[in-house]
Amino acid sequence: MTVTRFAPSPTGYLHVGNLRTALFNFLIARKAGGRFILRLDDTDPERSKPEYADQIQRDLEWLGLTWDRVERQSERLDRYAAAADALREKGRFYEAWETPTELDLKRKKQMNMGQPPVYDRAALRLSDDEKAAMRAERGQGHWRFKLDHERIEWTDGILGPLSIDAASVSDPVLIRQDGQVLYTLASVVDDTEMGVTHVVRGSDHVTNTATQIQIMASLGFAPPAFAHHSLLTGPQGEALSKRLGTLALKDLRENGVEPMALLSHMARIGSSQPVALCDTVDDLAAGFDLDHFGSAPTKFDVDDLYLLTARYLHGQPLSAVADDIAALGVPDDLAETFWTVARDNITTRHDLAGWWRLFHDGAEPLVAEEDRDFVAQAFALLPEPPYGPTTWKDWTDAVKEATGRKGKGLFMPLRKAVTGLERGPEMADVMQLLQKKPTL
Ligand code: GLU
Repeated sequence: MTVTRFAPSPTGYLHVGNLRTALFNFLIARKAGGRFILRLDDTDPERSKPEYADQIQRDLEWLGLTWDRVERQSERLDRYAAAADALREKGRFYEAWETPTELDLKRKKQMNMGQPPVYDRAALRLSDDEKAAMRAERGQGHWRFKLDHERIEWTDGILGPLSIDAASVSDPVLIRQDGQVLYTLASVVDDTEMGVTHVVRGSDHVTNTATQIQIMASLGFAPPAFAHHSLLTGPQGEALSKRLGTLALKDLRENGVEPMALLSHMARIGSSQPVALCDTVDDLAAGFDLDHFGSAPTKFDVDDLYLLTARYLHGQPLSAVADDIAALGVPDDLAETFWTVARDNITTRHDLAGWWRLFHDGAEPLVAEEDRDFVAQAFALLPEPPYGPTTWKDWTDAVKEATGRKGKGLFMPLRKAVTGLERGPEMADVMQLLQKKPTL
């Protein structure tokens, strides 16, 4: 059975970058008829916040990325302690006492000497007496996993065959000095115990994967299949990391981005397939395949989400927006006409309100000086509402007869006077929706 998971740390809001990870894992499980786990990597008690965990769940629910179960690492600390003991027994876990400043200094020295900034394992060379002295002076140390210095190899689901020299990687810290277990270890335990078969995550995790494969091997666990998707950049290929904060899912939602527009876009960018607007996550899952993705950074332009949202709404029946339309106070018998008129002229459903205001309150007329008398004369020929399907024709026929104007010279000034716009919906539809007689 295919089991995937999305494992955010609830230390912030989800953004478009995280969404790709969530979505890929969700789609793989969905396509295979497997299970999708939401795992909150909340072993950092200071930075993890319940409001972030709640918002993560709300975001995923909004998008329809439902999970089969939710797990919290903070509830599984005993499992990680057992794994840490096992690593100690196997001689693969060692305590070290360097402070962040000391480590930084070491790294700088190595770089100055043209060496890679890999931890020098000084703590491994401490005698028992020296360790006791360290403990007396500095208290608990942090714990590092002792990598075997050999090549770590796997076939990545996106990047293909990978081989990483363990000697080029620092022994990873798995338990911090304050006792906090880091997800590098927690994840290994969870992925194994939860039967996770596929892990897709960002390519910033490639080195973690190498070390996790060794940790798993040392604990006698079989690794899942790993795949690393490329990271997002801005439209010009510029780094997006600093802007991701402004691309939070909850903000996109507030701004009116439609879930299926967002998902359809995020499931395809960075792949060789064109973006196809899907109506359901199942349709998306059916066409999803990691084979179509490559290692090149993926360009992301937030404007595309709005273009796709507009396209999505354009294709929707009234039922998709009936609640929004009713909430605006549009009478039921006008809802269908209102939607027909509005859907070609909106970017998000928030724009519906502006259109209804125009029909309900009337627009600020746009009248050229030379058309003033003509428009005044035309308005005098327009009866009071309610208007119907023939109002526009009847009215313009009457105006034509009274003024002798025809064609563009007749219709354009009336359109601008009624809607305040140079272009827009069919005037026959507009007239039916008007709740007040337009005036100058
Ligand atoms: N909590 C980790 C992160 O958000 C999980 C990484 C993983 O998928 O294993 O970076």
